[in-house]
Amino acid sequence: MKLFVANWKMHKTRADARAFAEELGREIGAGLGDAELAIAPPFTALAEAGDPSGRWSLAGQNVAAEPDGAFTGEVSATMLVDAGCRYAIVGHSERRRLFAEDGPILSRKLARCREAGLTPIYCVGETAEERDAGLTAVTLVRQLDALDGDPAALPLVVAYEPVWAIGTGRSATAEDSGNACVHIAEILSDRRALRILYGGSVTPANASDLLAARRTDGFLIGGASLSAVSFAAIARA
Ligand code: PEP
Repeated sequence: MKLFVANWKMHKTRADARAFAEELGREIGAGLGDAELAIAPPFTALAEAGDPSGRWSLAGQNVAAEPDGAFTGEVSATMLVDAGCRYAIVGHSERRRLFAEDGPILSRKLARCREAGLTPIYCVGETAEERDAGLTAVTLVRQLDALDGDPAALPLVVAYEPVWAIGTGRSATAEDSGNACVHIAEILSDRRALRILYGGSVTPANASDLLAARRTDGFLIGGASLSAVSFAAIARA
């Protein structure tokens, strides 16, 4: 089943989320059959972004590396499950770049997800400099190291998100994204249930092409997921 995840980042109040959920419900009717949808709203809007009829699930945009305790401002994996989440995004490039998250921290976040029963959506992707230096493959291998202790039997989602394509309006070509997704699948060949998403400036206009890329099981969508109409249009691709 293809998976389409809306990452709202730091957008939308509770009222906005409620309006989005109503509109998305109208857009997809009884559901999309062969497409699974998930929404990653800000923590404050998790309740409003959910669907009582279960046509989409919820994801945390981030999760704490510790199980509980004196960590002001953090939200634990158990709290995300309690708030209705099935997934948590781990290692988004904005978290890596702006909040200095990498390797050991991300491994701990992955472990917390597993203890709580959350499926991680683990993000990887090279910067423009790494790409220009021919370091895309090396970067992916290094970033995937954080999954070393993660049980291979459990379902896993990996999002290939080239940093230069996120929020820039310049998506990867289907050939490049397909190559990266195949490479990720090869590195993680011991995985029983692995879905690989592409992310980076996906829109309704380029969704069909990108979804046809090799080993691509769906998308992680930022900007274009802020509208229920365009999110549904992408999922229908
Ligand atoms: C993202 O933030 O994960 C993302 C892919 O953003 P955008 O779709 O806006 O490039």
